[in-house]
Amino acid sequence: MSHNDLHQNFIGGKWMPSVSQASFENRNPANTDDVIGHFPDSQIEDINQAVAAATTAFHQWRLVPAPKRAELIFRAAERLTDRKADYARAMTREMGKVLTEAAGDVQEAIDMSYYMAGEGRRQFGQTTPAELPNKFAMSVRQPLGVCGLISPWNFPMAIPSWKIMPALVCGNTVVLKPAPETPLSAAHLVKILEDVGVPPGVVNMVHGGADIGAALTRHSGVQVISFTGSNTTGRLVAQACAPDFRRCHLEMGGKNAIIVMDDANLELAIDGAVWGGFGTSGQRCTAASRVIVHQKVYKAFLEGFTERTRRLRVGDGQDPSVQVGPLVRLSQMEKVLSYIRIGMDEGAKRLIGGRRLESGAYAKGFFVEPTIFGDVDPNMRIAQEEIFGPVSAVIPCDDLAQAIAIANRVSYGLSAAIYTQDINKAFTAMRDLHTGIFYVNASTIGAEVHLPFGGVKATGNGHREAGQAALDFFSEWKSIYVDFSGKLQRAQIDRE
Ligand code: NAD
Repeated sequence: MSHNDLHQNFIGGKWMPSVSQASFENRNPANTDDVIGHFPDSQIEDINQAVAAATTAFHQWRLVPAPKRAELIFRAAERLTDRKADYARAMTREMGKVLTEAAGDVQEAIDMSYYMAGEGRRQFGQTTPAELPNKFAMSVRQPLGVCGLISPWNFPMAIPSWKIMPALVCGNTVVLKPAPETPLSAAHLVKILEDVGVPPGVVNMVHGGADIGAALTRHSGVQVISFTGSNTTGRLVAQACAPDFRRCHLEMGGKNAIIVMDDANLELAIDGAVWGGFGTSGQRCTAASRVIVHQKVYKAFLEGFTERTRRLRVGDGQDPSVQVGPLVRLSQMEKVLSYIRIGMDEGAKRLIGGRRLESGAYAKGFFVEPTIFGDVDPNMRIAQEEIFGPVSAVIPCDDLAQAIAIANRVSYGLSAAIYTQDINKAFTAMRDLHTGIFYVNASTIGAEVHLPFGGVKATGNGHREAGQAALDFFSEWKSIYVDFSGKLQRAQIDRE
């Protein structure tokens, strides 16, 4: 292991190894011979140190005026912009998504940073008349303290930025525990925050896996947990937070549907199904893993969708001509292949794909062919469970009401889309689909940072990321009454 390969935690403004001195490897999923680096396999003691540093830093940071905190975040946006191309290349190598999408991931962090920098001068509360004379009433946002941030690998820089930037602008300090599959992209973001002068201890990062994630969720010095990941883990996080009533935000899985009506622009709908189903190799919480198509256009849609999917180029995302990269790791690939077998056993019609690609240039990576199942019954497991891979389930329907019923009949509720030229159908679907995000004539992916992001039902627990909603999660309201009457005035009682 060369010196350059060995990465560190960031605690109290210092880069340092784990107390255990142990490390784990990070390899390129397109070519597992390519070792990206070794990262600290941290222990509970590292988490304790990071929480202690964040606690100490909080006493000063909460008193820094929000517009000043925001200036640092603004500078971070500028530096990220300067380094966007380098960070995108590193991200592709680290987790496989193709270069243009990796650049989009970094751009999302830039967008979030600029947006939250603006919020430094906009953390509005309310001033309102009091019900008693000579009394003043207002509400202000207050920071919460130390935030534990736990992120997944599929948006390695965007998701940490969605959590860090609003937390910081509200005056909190943070301990980030990034996914072990993508520690380098998280480290790039944290290094930028160090470089622009965020004070020591305000941002801390501890690498490692489930054990230290769990330790963070149980730590009594942590006031808030913001978690993005699977439902299985999310349930454990909620349980860990419950005994201490710790505030906790969960963003979890999806089983998102595109509805294609008989009056849709079919070419556009096919564009959306290809991009939504196979972008990021289907490893997006908002991936369009179901397409519900009106009987009248079902055959034409399937032909076009299959044909377009056949032309997709699968390979190493570092090659600019590649459109679909590898899956992130062996176990993820095995899970996807097992769902493909389940689909075939359930009697769905495999129209294209379905196999691992393993010869020649594919031999050292985790590549699966983009796969389409047709004639899928909405109750099949491939139409109900999150696969998180390049697998699309196409379900026929008779009309809009049936399409909406099918779309809603899953436990998740993140994103949905409809393709139609009929404004009445579009508005009906917009109102009746049980999701936190909805698109008309666009795919299920493509959220912008200044709107709330998140889902209903099993996708989330009622909070939202991004937009103004992020400020609501990372701050607490304080209502303030100033009585300048000089006498005892009793609300609700002194009414004359
Ligand atoms: P995961 O749940 O396996 O891991 C997420 C993070 O939690 C990682 O950092 C992991 O180390 C950590 N972790 C694991 N066990 C833990 C525990 N017991 N306590 C605390 N932390 C623990 O998820 P993943 O495989 O990294 O990500 C894929 C999942 O994330 C998918 O289900 C996807 O839908 C979801 N996701 C959701 C959104 C959203 O905004 N709704 C966005 C992206 C991904």
